[in-house]
Amino acid sequence: MAELSLDGVTKRFDDGGNGIIAVDEASLDIDDGEFLVLVGPSGCGKSTTLRMIAGLESVSSGTISLDGTVIDDRQPADRDIAMVFQSYALYPHMTVRENMSFGLEESTEMPDDEIREQVESAAEMMGIEQLLDRTPSELSGGQQQRVALGRAIVRSPAVFLMDEPLSNLDAKLRSQMRTELQRMQEDLGVTTVYVTHDQTEAMTMGDRIAILDDGRLQQVATPLEAYHEPANRFVAGFIGEPSMNFFETTVENGRLVGENFDYPLSEDTRADIGDTADVTLGVRPEDIELVDAVEGDGEHDFRTVVDVVEPVGSGNNVYLAFEGDESASELDMDESQTFVATIGGLRRIEAGQPAIARLPENAIHLFDSETGEALHNRNLDDTEQVEPQL
Ligand code: ATP
Repeated sequence: MAELSLDGVTKRFDDGGNGIIAVDEASLDIDDGEFLVLVGPSGCGKSTTLRMIAGLESVSSGTISLDGTVIDDRQPADRDIAMVFQSYALYPHMTVRENMSFGLEESTEMPDDEIREQVESAAEMMGIEQLLDRTPSELSGGQQQRVALGRAIVRSPAVFLMDEPLSNLDAKLRSQMRTELQRMQEDLGVTTVYVTHDQTEAMTMGDRIAILDDGRLQQVATPLEAYHEPANRFVAGFIGEPSMNFFETTVENGRLVGENFDYPLSEDTRADIGDTADVTLGVRPEDIELVDAVEGDGEHDFRTVVDVVEPVGSGNNVYLAFEGDESASELDMDESQTFVATIGGLRRIEAGQPAIARLPENAIHLFDSETGEALHNRNLDDTEQVEPQL
């Protein structure tokens, strides 16, 4: 059980004279028992952050503390931290039992029968008790990953660090293991930092997620806060699948004027953008409605042509081009003139047909085009609480 704190943690690599700042002043407090997911694109500094916490990489500046005690100078073995890697890192010549016992035998004075008990209870927790006498080569990838997790569990560490532990598994097993891992972490109540580049994994597993880009922490929030109230354009585009649509606009008399449209704003929304002149309008695909007819003054409705339809079973991703947009007439997805709306899987729609896309004002996000900072996030007043009907 432990609280883990990063205070201004920075990592510089001196790459042949070219200094690389892999992690830039990361500050983060992870609560006792919390499951924190560190997420971001490849090369953003996730693994380096984790390796610094584990003690496998030194800290260039800043401090890392466990329960208020700075641990920067402690050897990895003295940090009470267990790490699980993507590669499993099991000893190939040892049985599962030996792999799981090894750490306890090496680093503790625990009697043999207690070690056996611990290993068997961790194996039971991970559902691998029948595999204890096999070697890693006799196991599937999923089973090897369970052993790697089991080996971390037996040590009863203060903190688990996990670096993309599920990425070698197929999609189905990965989603099953996600649930198991979450349940296990909740049962054990061990503070966990989990690294992934997969935003779905981050959203579904984390109590909170920390989003990194280019070595900098962009936002630390619950998954739903990051989704509904992104701090900036990067987070808005990174969280959510398909990604949020963005349109570059300039503000003219309280309207957002873009290449293909003119979007009036209510007074409240205008107040949020102040006198910012260049604003990026963001709308999530799931918030765009395809409607049969323009209603009322139709100021938030746009005539479009369906470019491509991607059915995903439960829904359809519908790529749309603004009607009359010459640059989109080739129907080329790379033109970035298209934007995507998701609609129900039972609605039929075909490429080439006209469609009216509604971008409701209560669902829009606005960002300062220059800094990327969020100026206005979607309105959450109309969220519904599901009440059981007894
Ligand atoms: P991925 O998801 O691809 O594993 P990541 O987010 O984990 O990426 P890191 O491995 O932490 O990213 O790397 C962050 C940056 O630091 C990258 O630019 C990387 O090239 C650089 N880097 C990492 N390790 C070293 C090293 N030992 N020497 C020099 N540069 C390094």
